[in-house]
Amino acid sequence: MYGFVSSVLAEKGRHVYTIERSATVADAVRQMNEKGIGALLVVESGRPVGIFTERDVLRRVVDAGRDPASTHVAEVMTREPVTISPDWHVEEAMELMTSHRFRHLPVIEDGNLVGMISIGDLMRWVTIHQEDHIRQMTDYITGRIA
Ligand code: AMP
Repeated sequence: MYGFVSSVLAEKGRHVYTIERSATVADAVRQMNEKGIGALLVVESGRPVGIFTERDVLRRVVDAGRDPASTHVAEVMTREPVTISPDWHVEEAMELMTSHRFRHLPVIEDGNLVGMISIGDLMRWVTIHQEDHIRQMTDYITGRIA
């Protein structure tokens, strides 16, 4: 009903914010705050090796008493993140996020990183399409269209 992940990416763009695994948590937090995002894909020599999100800052850094300035992203990231491909249905991506209790999914096509979607992107997408659907139904019911 809500189409494919490729359509969501076409609207939001394919840029993915990344950070080197050797960077510090302080660097990562600064980048997330500057960009207004909640997750960074962690790379090593350009190759994705993990994901680091604001939840990791809370659980694995602050609550664990680690120093953000001396902790490396590699120590507190999640290795080998779950990924999807652009031909997944939006509903499938939402179901995957819900069942795993995470809010970010890197999108891979033919072995290449082509985007990152968050639960916020999907909620926005679904809301817009629900509004369209309601408008069409209203037009139909009130006879504004044949
Ligand atoms: P989030 O809800 O996305 O902030 O992430 C919650 C936890 O799941 C954090 O430990 C993240 O590192 C981890 N995480 C986020 N996205 C993924 C993913 N696509 N695959 C595996 N783990 C993830």
